[in-house]
Amino acid sequence: MNIPQSQSIAHGFTDTPINKIYDVVIVGAGPIGLATAVGLRKRGIDNILVIDQTRAFRQVGQVVDLLPNGLKALKYVDTHAYQAVKTASLTFTKYQQSDDEKTTEVIEPKLPKPSLEWVYKNFQGQRVRSISLSFDVWFSNYGEGRVSITWYNLQTALRQLLPEDQVKPNHRCINVVDEPELGCVRLDCVSSASIEANPYAYWSDGENNHDTQSQNSDSAPQPSLTKSFRAKLIVAADGINSTVRKILYADSSQQAFAIPEYSGFAAISCREIPDIPKELRSHIEEKFLAGSPIITVANYDLREVAFSETPRMLLINRQGMGYLVHLPVPLHLVSEKSGSDLLDLVLQELEKAGFPHAIQELVRLSPPENILQRPYYIHRAAIAKNILPAWSSGRVVLVGDAAHGMPPFMAQGANQGLEDAMVITTLITNIAQENNWDNQQAIASAFDKYERLRRPFMEYIQQATLTEFPNSSDQAWQEYSDKVYTRNFEQIIAGLLVESE
Ligand SMILES: Cc1cc2nc3c(=O)[nH]c(=O)nc-3n(C[C@H](O)[C@H](O)[C@H](O)COP(=O)(O)OP(=O)(O)OC[C@H]3O[C@@H](n4cnc5c(N)ncnc54)[C@H](O)[C@@H]3O)c2cc1C
Repeated sequence: MNIPQSQSIAHGFTDTPINKIYDVVIVGAGPIGLATAVGLRKRGIDNILVIDQTRAFRQVGQVVDLLPNGLKALKYVDTHAYQAVKTASLTFTKYQQSDDEKTTEVIEPKLPKPSLEWVYKNFQGQRVRSISLSFDVWFSNYGEGRVSITWYNLQTALRQLLPEDQVKPNHRCINVVDEPELGCVRLDCVSSASIEANPYAYWSDGENNHDTQSQNSDSAPQPSLTKSFRAKLIVAADGINSTVRKILYADSSQQAFAIPEYSGFAAISCREIPDIPKELRSHIEEKFLAGSPIITVANYDLREVAFSETPRMLLINRQGMGYLVHLPVPLHLVSEKSGSDLLDLVLQELEKAGFPHAIQELVRLSPPENILQRPYYIHRAAIAKNILPAWSSGRVVLVGDAAHGMPPFMAQGANQGLEDAMVITTLITNIAQENNWDNQQAIASAFDKYERLRRPFMEYIQQATLTEFPNSSDQAWQEYSDKVYTRNFEQIIAGLLVESE
């Protein structure tokens, strides 16, 4: 895998002066790119720039749960970032602070009050397990808490810790070129261009209309301006549809892994089911929801079938009653299907899995126009034992979803990305302290350490995500939680640095 080498400046690009070379340019102002930038600045590396394709930072994205491992990593990156994120979270901002105590400028999303636990029920409506949503309970179990935060508020809280002129929206990276004669890499960007839709991260309805909520992209065509930047190192945090990844993998033996693979799972949701007969509503409220705004219902009594081979339903009772079902189905059954086709598919799968009649009856009432689908994609950390998609090449390294994006079933995407940010900021700081910016071998060795530390753990997390084995029993959950949440990051980092010496 190689970065293409420079022949000449691409025609039409405004080149930055050759003597302006950043230490690090970060592609993508999502949570992981920004956390990396904050961590580098905190360690005295401030000749950096973050670019993002979005024309302006806006309220987009879903709610993300940050769990003890992600919060521990963030705290290591920068304690101010940890505090800012905690303050901007739904867990703290909305429910535990009065208006005049609020210190951040983040915009509060209109979400209902979460209950203090997430309950898992079997088909008989019996509680199989519950997971606390309380920061303090997680803190006492794992040495760090848990918060829910919207993607936008997470982005905003981190962005506000950086000088405005170091985060440039409206710069979409379209090319990465090695310039060995200058000891750097050049990034070519376009501005005010229509942004490519991200086919790997969206909800769409039966008419095949995609939401714009799940991606930092917009589509109004505008005239394009082009610009180039140079950097000693590039951190590519440009998400699951990473452009940098495609450039690195192009024309290489790993070309097949340039774009993400369908994970085998899709979500089908119905925002709201109107006109539910009173009797059916009360039955579902009493037997399943029991006062919770959201619960998971699945066949937890399975013996012969793997848990991941059966549908799991999030039953939701917020402004109205609705649901979201995770289905293990081939992609062609969901993509570009009408609302009625999707509804038929859900009903068929729920019946096959033996879901309670009341739940099937509820789903049957879904208006097809309220049905959305979202296939989930993955960049596997390992394709096979000896096929490992590279996460770096020369002066370029992939982090977050660009390296290992995956479905959200174990709520680990951003948390794992924050672990990447912690490791990468440590290793780049080491390069800076040793003044190894021009030492290709030291750079390769740092990125190799990053991959050797992070890849095996990502393999474990992706396996947990795809099989959901931690949800199969209390013991499996406990073992998984101990392995993921209780690690001591100070020790991990100390190990990395000892190795560097
Ligand atoms: C429904 C859902 C629920 C989730 N829940 C959780 C959860 O509970 N916990 C959890 O940890 N994770 C969760 N995740 C995953 C989490 O959202 C991602 O793992 C996380 O956002 C990845 O961060 P990132 O910075 O790597 O990438 P992204 O968040 O995708 O950010 C990438 C950034 O790069 C920019 N960009 C893209 N291409 C370019 C380009 N060519 N040039 C310049 N900029 C570019 C984009 O505009 C964007 O701002 C969930 C995901 C989904 C879909």
